Amino acid sequence: MATLHALEAVAGRRRFRVTSPVDDRDLGTFDVHTLDDVRAAVARAREVQPAWAALGPRGRAKVMQKAVQVLVRERERYVALMTAETGRPELDTLMIEIFAALDSLNHYSAAAPRVLEDRKVGLHLMRHKRASVTFKPLGVVGVISPWNGPFILSLNPAVQALLAGNAVIVKPSEVTPRSGLLVAELFAAAGMPEGVVQVLTGDGETGAAMCEAGLDKLVFTGSVATGRKVGEACGRNLVPCTLELGGKDPAIVCADADLTRAANGIVFGGIMNSGQFCSSTERVYVEAPVYEAFVDRLVAKVRELEVGRDVGPFILDRQIEIVDRHVREAVAQGARVLVGGERVGRAYAPTVIVDVTHDMALMTEETFGPVLPVMKVADEAEAVRMANDSQYGLGGSVWTRDRARAHRIARQLTVGAVTVNESSLTYGALEVPFGGRKASGVGRTNGKGALLNFVHPTPILEDRFGNAEEAVWYPYTEEKTASMRKAVKAIWGTPLRWLIR
Ligand code: NAD
Repeated sequence: MATLHALEAVAGRRRFRVTSPVDDRDLGTFDVHTLDDVRAAVARAREVQPAWAALGPRGRAKVMQKAVQVLVRERERYVALMTAETGRPELDTLMIEIFAALDSLNHYSAAAPRVLEDRKVGLHLMRHKRASVTFKPLGVVGVISPWNGPFILSLNPAVQALLAGNAVIVKPSEVTPRSGLLVAELFAAAGMPEGVVQVLTGDGETGAAMCEAGLDKLVFTGSVATGRKVGEACGRNLVPCTLELGGKDPAIVCADADLTRAANGIVFGGIMNSGQFCSSTERVYVEAPVYEAFVDRLVAKVRELEVGRDVGPFILDRQIEIVDRHVREAVAQGARVLVGGERVGRAYAPTVIVDVTHDMALMTEETFGPVLPVMKVADEAEAVRMANDSQYGLGGSVWTRDRARAHRIARQLTVGAVTVNESSLTYGALEVPFGGRKASGVGRTNGKGALLNFVHPTPILEDRFGNAEEAVWYPYTEEKTASMRKAVKAIWGTPLRWLIR
């Protein structure tokens, strides 16, 4: 498991060493950057950002396309580096990091000219005026990322912010600094001007400094506890921020579901990346008539998994303690483990556990491990009630053959995204917004508004005719007031209103 080793400060600078979750191999020593360092990076970014912005969306997209080529060419080296740092199966790294990164670079570089080029806007009422909107970059955007998707969760917000014309400073997790540094390496190899993307290693001190260093926006992905601190600091400094936080995603299995697909999909949704996924399936509610049949299939599927081939060790060593505690406490409170429920070397065996209740931390706190707790529910209404009985609201899934029922349930779930007969795909569907409700976050990433999250859309409204004055300019007179009265009645008090809206 990746272990962090704090080192003696050298010349007043703290440093840390990281070892591999695979074999304890030394992965390097990294600086903890200070507030002064972050401020210097922001100053550097401000110097180079205007020239980057001046390239326009098409010019910036060209650099992103170059990055696609570099990443395809260098993919095996990147996979090896990230696999050593995270300990995951290579397929997890290829899918979660490389595939998703290439899609982000490619998709948003095509979207940028369409979304960000200046455009004329027709006005429904003020037809005697001319309007356009120009999209000005915010300036310097900060990205603070976690360890569970260390490359993609640094890269994807950076791609969006960069295409919008901003400079970017990334602060990767102290658990996975090398995956974060790859973001700077990738863009440098793609010909990005120096200083437009900077990666500053460090821990909470560097993260806290990011909130104080005068950034124009901050995108934070991480735990709820840290997200609250970031939100507070950004609020105090009036820095807009997006908070992508934890989750406890429910899956609802209806009596009419295809139970084989449901079991296979829920196992993937709960176990993938060893459960270290914000939108992992962490609770399963099954309608009573199919409960036994579904649990049998779930257990059979989990028994097919192999630690090592399908499930890696924890990226951060401390995580196994949380997973183990949740399972042990649940068992002490009456839950039964049907498969798994134990450590296997540095990993945790994929686990199915039943007879769980909402009095257990396993059902209320984020576990972030390969554990599927399953609960029997009487009907759809109880399933929805239990699914919504959570401080979190990131995602959820519904398993049924009845589309109308699926949509009815989806509309009732207090979560940011719902999948039907599918697991946790929404971060990868770039056309749709991703983000949480309740403690799972503030704001959205991806979706149609993705690039617009990183600009000031600035309207420019122009007079077309050059008259000496307009109908309502000074001085105010009885006649002007009477004309305005008439206009109110003539426009909105008659069918004319259907023509001008
Ligand atoms: P974390 O909150 O411990 O750390 C996240 C980042 O914040 C790290 O880079 C860390 O150094 C930094 N940080 C620590 N203290 C800080 C402070 N005071 N101010 C600013 N930054 C600070 O989270 P983690 O353990 O690295 O990541 C796992 C969590 O991330 C899980 O809860 C998971 O659900 C969540 N997550 C959410 C999403 C999402 O999109 N909603 C995606 C992935 C992960």
